[in-house]
Amino acid sequence: EAKRDTGTSYRFYNRELHISTGYQLRLETDLRHAIRAQELELYYQPRIDLATGEVRGMECLLRWNHPKRGMIGPDEFIPVAERSGLIVPIGYWVIEQACQRLQESAELGFPGLVLAVNLSFRQFHDPKMTETIFRIIFNANVDTSLLELELTESAMMHDPEYAQRCLRELNQLGVSFALDDFGTGYSSLSNLQHLPISLVKIDKSFIQDLGKSADAEHIIRAIITLAHSLHMSVVAEGVETKEQLEFLQQQHCDEIQGYYFARPMPWNELVQFLTQQSRSACL
Ligand code: C2E
Ligand code: MG
Ligand code: MG
Ligand code: MG
Repeated sequence: EAKRDTGTSYRFYNRELHISTGYQLRLETDLRHAIRAQELELYYQPRIDLATGEVRGMECLLRWNHPKRGMIGPDEFIPVAERSGLIVPIGYWVIEQACQRLQESAELGFPGLVLAVNLSFRQFHDPKMTETIFRIIFNANVDTSLLELELTESAMMHDPEYAQRCLRELNQLGVSFALDDFGTGYSSLSNLQHLPISLVKIDKSFIQDLGKSADAEHIIRAIITLAHSLHMSVVAEGVETKEQLEFLQQQHCDEIQGYYFARPMPWNELVQFLTQQSRSACL
């Protein structure tokens, strides 16, 4: 992944971001302090049920409020956290926060909302993963059926036997699993059908190609049909327009998540959003 640059430094290619190693190292040092300094914050993006127009739940999305650099998004620092291993403690902190929010939302009068948390590859392969998650959810005393863990195909398929064992153990506790960014990898849903996955999230790149490429329509249709035949629900990510929403409705997509309804927001804004929505459904 590292490419020779001018001969004086290496540059790492991280999606479209070109970030120098010096910058990465500084970021890593800063990230070590970020948890204790309470610079990490979760934002919450609602997911809307297309059949009822109601909020089904929300996804927790990390933000880093860096004292000098301002708000840094996960696409920039998650790769750093992943490489350094810091994603493991950060990831557990996220699950702890999510469990607290689950309790709060029930107390505020919004019971039954699902909270989804992303698990990175490295965290999923932490030898203490299931044990640590068990401990967190038991201490939090939450309804485990409201906690959903999002994993990508590559995290699940790297070691299918390990994945099967972990997913089953956590699933027996009530935790459910979603397949994130589906369609971008190489596995087929039928490869994954023996895993306890209840939900498939179609990657936003397909939604954003709607109307621009006929392929996107065919792929989305195929994913929805196959997921439903395997008794999985489907969430479309990155829905920004009414046209995209209408297409997904016609295809019987179950839920949508996207700027069209709501951007990721801090907890207090989410509470206001939920209060408004409980008076009138989104659709
Ligand atoms: P993801 O899990 O696929 O999350 C969805 C991403 O799509 C989020 O980006 C969200 O803000 C963005 N999004 C939602 N609706 C729209 C839309 O309508 N248009 C567009 N253009 N984007 C939309 P975000 O928050 O920047 O997060 C990026 C990725 O970082 C996530 O992708 C996830 O893989 C990772 N991530 C975020 N939080 C965590 C975390 O707590 N732990 C781990 N391991 N990864 C995380
Ligand atoms: Mg996700
Ligand atoms: Mg995704
Ligand atoms: Mg993603």
